[in-house]
Amino acid sequence: MGNKKKFETEAVRTQTERSQFLEHSTPMYLTSSFIFEDAEDMRASFAEEKDRNIYSRYSNPNSTEFIDKVCKMEGAEAGFAFASGMAAVYSTFVALLEAGDHIVSSKSVFGSTHSLFTQFFPKWNVTTSYFDVDDLEDIEGLITPKTKILYAESPTNPGVDVLDLEAMGAIAKRHGLIFIIDNCFATPYLQQPIKFGADLVIHSGTKLMDGQGRVLAGITVGNNELMDKVYRFSRITGPALSPFNAWVLSKSLETLALRVDRHCSNAFELATYLENHPKVEWVKYPFLKSHPKYELAKKQMKAGGCVVAFEVKGGLEAGKRFFDAIQMLSLSANLGDSRSIVTHPASTTHSKLSTDERLAVGISDGMVRVSVGLEHIDDIIEDIEQALDK
Ligand SMILES: *Cc1c(COP(=O)(O)O)cnc(C)c1O
Repeated sequence: MGNKKKFETEAVRTQTERSQFLEHSTPMYLTSSFIFEDAEDMRASFAEEKDRNIYSRYSNPNSTEFIDKVCKMEGAEAGFAFASGMAAVYSTFVALLEAGDHIVSSKSVFGSTHSLFTQFFPKWNVTTSYFDVDDLEDIEGLITPKTKILYAESPTNPGVDVLDLEAMGAIAKRHGLIFIIDNCFATPYLQQPIKFGADLVIHSGTKLMDGQGRVLAGITVGNNELMDKVYRFSRITGPALSPFNAWVLSKSLETLALRVDRHCSNAFELATYLENHPKVEWVKYPFLKSHPKYELAKKQMKAGGCVVAFEVKGGLEAGKRFFDAIQMLSLSANLGDSRSIVTHPASTTHSKLSTDERLAVGISDGMVRVSVGLEHIDDIIEDIEQALDK
């Protein structure tokens, strides 16, 4: 493809395959399998002497295009596309781990990832130790001779804390660990963890990558050696992304930069508005000067992302009242959609925890998470304003 082009150009121009009709826009390859010329062609293909599609559980032109785009965006050598973000997380870990291995993970990770560590991996004697997002110095104390993976998300959900990727990359290197970052909140447009030492980067494509709340998807990208292990495991176990969803995702990436720019400018405006509102206790957004890791966020991210967290004065009841008064914004658990979404973690996703347990993972009772969408910012603020007034 010649010299490496700019992010936006690669997002639009990366095209894996055209049929004999020379379509301008990549068609959908809705096929489970591919055919061969003759016995020798088939033998050589199965022997992996040829780089070609055999069966869509292994590869498909639509998945390949999606993977190629994300590899270019993240600065990665190879990738594999999954049916969901959790399929990517699960398959990546299982492909790399042996029974008895140990993981060191940030306390603030996606709920299902946390459940994977606590409820399922122990079945294979894979254990996990957790560090606090504010105490990266604790990481080295948690590492044992069995530790294989260092894992984190940044910014975190729902607390939008920011972790120092470069510092973690250095620790992983010093101890020979595989450093994996779930980059879903930032997208490769805002942050490229490989630059800071990550070996593998995982995404839920369901969020900002699709950005329109239509499909589930996941992807892992990184160096050839580790991705080969992930590929070997995944082509056998079958978590592959469907060609249709891959086609949707590849189209979505064409507008990723434009969409994420608007998500971020809307989120910044909302965060600034909330910071000056008398009924708001505090606001957290990585690109607000008041964020404890503002300087770090500026260093490793291009903009602050689409999620704003804030605390309504008056605790759990006030949080619920605010939530009930919302008119336009969607009450949903998703994020990174074109439609703005509000979530009240204390009464929903984290309601089974006690107040103290919630505080330990950075969730206060009146805390609201807004995934700021692509509506006009005046309308987003108007809805939040009338709900705060109630
Ligand atoms: C949503 C999400 C996931 C899981 O992705 P799915 O596509 O829902 O399986 C993983 N990590 C983060 C940070 C997420 O937000």
